[in-house]
Amino acid sequence: MHVIVVGGGPAGMMAALRSAECGARVTLLEKNAALGEKLRISGGGRCNFTNAEADVRTLASLYGEAFRALLSPFTKFDSQHCLQWFASRGMPYHIEDNQRAFPADNRAESVLRVLVDELKRQKVTVQLSAQVTGLQASEGRIAGVLVGGRLLKGDRIVLATGGTSHPETGSTGDGFGWLSELGHRVRFPEPSLVPVAVKERWIGELQGLSFAQGRLEAWVAGEKHLARNGKFLITHFGLSGPLVLNMASELSSLRQKTSRQGELELRLNFRPELTAEELDRDLQERIASAPGKKLKNGLAGMAPPRLMAKVIEASKADPEKPLNQLTREERQAVRKNLQEFPLTFKSLMDESRAVVSSGGLHLDEVDFRTMESKRLKNLFVTGDLLDINRPSGGFSLQLCWSTGWVAGTIAKPTDFRLV
Ligand SMILES: Cc1cc2nc3c(=O)[nH]c(=O)nc-3n(C[C@H](O)[C@H](O)[C@H](O)COP(=O)(O)OP(=O)(O)OC[C@H]3O[C@@H](n4cnc5c(N)ncnc54)[C@H](O)[C@@H]3O)c2cc1C
Repeated sequence: MHVIVVGGGPAGMMAALRSAECGARVTLLEKNAALGEKLRISGGGRCNFTNAEADVRTLASLYGEAFRALLSPFTKFDSQHCLQWFASRGMPYHIEDNQRAFPADNRAESVLRVLVDELKRQKVTVQLSAQVTGLQASEGRIAGVLVGGRLLKGDRIVLATGGTSHPETGSTGDGFGWLSELGHRVRFPEPSLVPVAVKERWIGELQGLSFAQGRLEAWVAGEKHLARNGKFLITHFGLSGPLVLNMASELSSLRQKTSRQGELELRLNFRPELTAEELDRDLQERIASAPGKKLKNGLAGMAPPRLMAKVIEASKADPEKPLNQLTREERQAVRKNLQEFPLTFKSLMDESRAVVSSGGLHLDEVDFRTMESKRLKNLFVTGDLLDINRPSGGFSLQLCWSTGWVAGTIAKPTDFRLV
């Protein structure tokens, strides 16, 4: 049996490995000069390669509407299998907050190295700089793929060309077009887990500040619509980090729904662990303990220095003034800016900054026991090509490992085996 895998990202590499392990002759076609370009930049170069949630039903429930569909692939290869798979191939890992798993050395390269070594060990033929330009179908089957102007024939074709986020990594959405031409229902992709741009241009002055536990609220015309706690960071254009990526779609639809009511205000709370009264008391204590200190020095430690300077500026207080000359209004303004720092939503960033794009092949078009297309025998679809929303936290890559592994397994659906 000759298996052709199109796309050398995580889903494609896993599918190729698994097919080879099942005894097939495997050709992996990748248009870039190297494998796994997106994997390399994942998790800011650290690669949150799975989410260690051990209960399969809980894991699947985090993928929203895809819960039922994913029970089958996750039962065959879930995050515990994934952790074991990488660890047994020489990649230790550690688990951080919210069950996010990273390689022990925090290097995405380590994840990639395991996959590349394994491709060699399993004798997969890897063709780099091999751009597939189309699929050739006849009589309800795919005969092969068009590459370099010729037809490469295969018995089984696994599509793993990814979504459309960060297109410079090679994910240019080619698979969506092919699937659609072959009669599949495909939802046009749009950025999903994506950072947010704000209107305040000075935000770049705070670039790089990150908050392990902050709170983001969304307000329109004096009404609070959304509020969530989590980790976020400030970038040169606005906000990013897990909290913001996970709220992006909701913020975008809120903007559309309320566009006539005024600006969408984002309020950042840098000290959500304290109530307003507790923070005000903290301020009063600091003033009482060092009344002669300048404001800019006396409040150091309440927030990172660059942020504190901005908070004082936004509170319209003179940073050179001694603490005991701070008026009640100024003190209250400082408190407010630490807990309700206002920014104005501008837009979601585009595909070039998205972590994943939503959209893709409709779930009803795939048999999740095998990842085979229900329309074309011998066509298998994996990873970011599937229309599955998921939060950030290692869930995207787990989806790739599970669907790649299942698509690569050449056996009856009841005969899966884990090695
Ligand atoms: C900045 C960033 C950070 C991320 N961090 C994380 C994280 O920490 N944890 C997590 O779980 N997820 C993360 N993700 C998401 C995760 O990287 C993706 O979900 C995952 O890479 C998708 O894998 P894939 O194999 O489906 O597709 P891709 O990784 O997109 O791979 C597709 C491959 O197919 C190739 N290809 C495309 N078209 C053709 C063609 N015509 N012919 C031949 N080859 C082709 C491409 O060049 C590419 O190599 C991150 C994404 C980004 C952008």
